[in-house]
Amino acid sequence: MTPTIAAFIWAIGLIAWLAIRIPRRRKAKRTKVVADRVTMIERATLGLCIVGLVAIPIIYLATDVLDYANYNFSPWGAFLGTIAMAVFVALFHLSHKQLDKNWSVTLEVREDHKLIDHGLYAHIRHPMYTSFWLWGIAQALLVPNWVAGFAGVVSVAILYFSRIRNEEAMMRQQFGSDYDEYCARTTRLVPKLF
Ligand code: SAH
Repeated sequence: MTPTIAAFIWAIGLIAWLAIRIPRRRKAKRTKVVADRVTMIERATLGLCIVGLVAIPIIYLATDVLDYANYNFSPWGAFLGTIAMAVFVALFHLSHKQLDKNWSVTLEVREDHKLIDHGLYAHIRHPMYTSFWLWGIAQALLVPNWVAGFAGVVSVAILYFSRIRNEEAMMRQQFGSDYDEYCARTTRLVPKLF
């Protein structure tokens, strides 16, 4: 594993993200939104994720402005980063597929919204966020630069911690005791752990 191959793997992750997301966003427009909890903070944290997971690594790869923060490349770290990136793509794809018409990029309830509790969702409530954490971790392992490497995981942490309580409160308001029971048999990000 070389830094160039690691950068290539990071780029494949980015392309996979676009290839999965773009058609889903188009499809989601067909289902009406009936309620939302979209705030300025919510929008800002989504924008921050684009900066941390996309813009800063591109600046690192395309220019030398961040070179002052480089550190030694670890082939083993990059190998683990490749595994994390592969699991990110698999979870990201499956969670979109399983949420189907109920998916939104932000906190929204759709017309005829169903509580999904099968597949990945039978074990954890937020597999898509697990996938985002893995993307951030993969970037930190693949990009040997203190700024560009860690920008992803920091922006994912900000998005996750500012959103998770609001999202669960919205789902509880929508599905009542069904959601409480669902919470009682699942964890948030990692099966049986947390
Ligand atoms: N937090 C989930 C979903 C992220 S997409 C995950 O990480 O996999 C965000 C939208 O998904 C929210 O606006 C909400 O409307 C919807 N959502 C979240 N969990 C859901 C579930 N179990 N069933 C149906 N819709 C859900």
